[in-house]
Amino acid sequence: MKFEDLGISGKTLESISELGYETPTEVQVKAVPHIISGKNLVVRSQTGTGKTAAFGIGLIERIASGTTSRALILTPTRELAIQVCIELRKLAKHHGFSVQAAYGGQNIAAQIRDLQRGYRILVATPGRLLDLSERRVVRIPDFNAVVLDEADHMLDIGFRKEVFSILSQLPTERLSLLFSATVDGEVRQIASRYVPDSELIEVGEMRTVSTIEEDRMEVMHAEKQRKLIETLNSHKGVKTLVFARTKRGVMRLAKRLGESGMRVGMLQGDMPQQKRTRTIDGFKRGEFPILVATNVAARGLHIDDVGLIINYDEAEDRETHLHRSGRTGRMGASGKVITFVSDEPPLQRRDDFSRGNRWRPFRGPSPPQEEIPIPDPSRRRFGSRRRFGPGHGGPRPGQRGRRGRRRS
Ligand code: AMP
Repeated sequence: MKFEDLGISGKTLESISELGYETPTEVQVKAVPHIISGKNLVVRSQTGTGKTAAFGIGLIERIASGTTSRALILTPTRELAIQVCIELRKLAKHHGFSVQAAYGGQNIAAQIRDLQRGYRILVATPGRLLDLSERRVVRIPDFNAVVLDEADHMLDIGFRKEVFSILSQLPTERLSLLFSATVDGEVRQIASRYVPDSELIEVGEMRTVSTIEEDRMEVMHAEKQRKLIETLNSHKGVKTLVFARTKRGVMRLAKRLGESGMRVGMLQGDMPQQKRTRTIDGFKRGEFPILVATNVAARGLHIDDVGLIINYDEAEDRETHLHRSGRTGRMGASGKVITFVSDEPPLQRRDDFSRGNRWRPFRGPSPPQEEIPIPDPSRRRFGSRRRFGPGHGGPRPGQRGRRGRRRS
C-alpha cells in the first residue's frame, strides 16, 4: 500500500515525502481513508505506530477540502501537545493553514497572542483549553472535529472532568476520533457516549515490539549506581534513556553521572516548560547521549533513535513498562531494555514522601506509583483532583487516592 492509494491530496503527499515517510503504517492505512470520509473512529494503538500522522493527515485533508472547519486535538501532557503540533505543522505546511498548541506551564499571554492570529487545528491539554475558553479566546463549539489522543492516559492522570466538560460543549454534528493504547473500562464508556456510530480499529498488540530485546538484571540496592555507570560505559555512543521513579532520584542520578564524566540531561515534572523543551531538543540533537527521566518521558516523546532504555527503578505496572519500552525500537528499529531488579530498603523510599505525604513502610519490590499530570494552574478551579468519589473525577472506590500519588 502506498500513501497515494489513501486518497491524500498532492500538497499533503509532498509534506509526507519531505518528512521521509515512504510507506504508510498499519494505523495510517486503516484510519486515514475513514477519517477523510468522515467516519467516527475508536483506534486502539500505541505510540510509535504512526498514529499522530494518521489523524493528522486525515484532519488536514478534511480541512483542505472544507468538510471540517476547525479541529481540536486533546492530549494528556504538554510534551505530547508540542510533539503533535510540530508533526502536524510539517504535514500541513503546503496547505498554508495554521496549527497551534495550548498547554499549561507556559505563559498564557503568548499563547493567546498566537491563537488570536487564527488557526485551523488546535492541539491542547484539557485544563489550558478550558482556561482559554473561559477567557473567551477559544470557542469550543467552533470545533467540528475532535481527537482524544491517548484517551487512557488522559483518564489515568485525572482529566476526566475536563474532558467531559469539553466534549459536552462541542457541536453534536462533528467528527470524533479516539486513540488509546487500551480500549476497555472507562475508555469504552467514553467511546460509546462521545464517539457514536464508530468503527473500531485495532493496531498491534499491547506488548513490546519484537525488535526490542529485554533484559532483567538483579542488582543490590547499594550497587545500583555503580552498575548503571558500568552499563552506560558498555553502551557508549548509544542514545540512552534512564528511568528513575522520583524527581529527587532523577536529580541525584543525573548529578552522579555528570560527576563521573558523562554528558547527561534530565527531565522531571518540576522543571519549567522551556527547560524541558530545551532538554528534549538537546537529547534529540545528540548534544548529550543520556537522558535521566521520570515517567514524564514515558509517553509520547518522538525520539526515534533511542537505542537503550534502562529502568533504573522498575516501572510500577506493566503498562508503564510498555510505554517506557516504547521509547526505543520505534518504527521497527532495534532497541534494548534493561531493567534493574533490586530490593530497596525503606530509607531509600523515605524522600519520595517528603512533600507532605505520609511515609509508608516498604512492603514489596514494586510499590504502587502513579503518574499525575504536570501541574497546570488553570486546572485548579475545576478541582477534579481535589474531590473524591464517583462523579467528582477523583478515584473511585478501590482506586488509590491522592496519598498514593507522586508527581513525576
Ligand atoms: P507516533 O505513533 O505518532 O508516536 O509516531 C511515531 C514516529 O513515527 C514519529 O516519529 C513519526 O514521525 C514516525 N512516522 C509516522 N508515520 C511514519 C511513516 N509512515 N513512515 C515512517 N515514519 C513514520
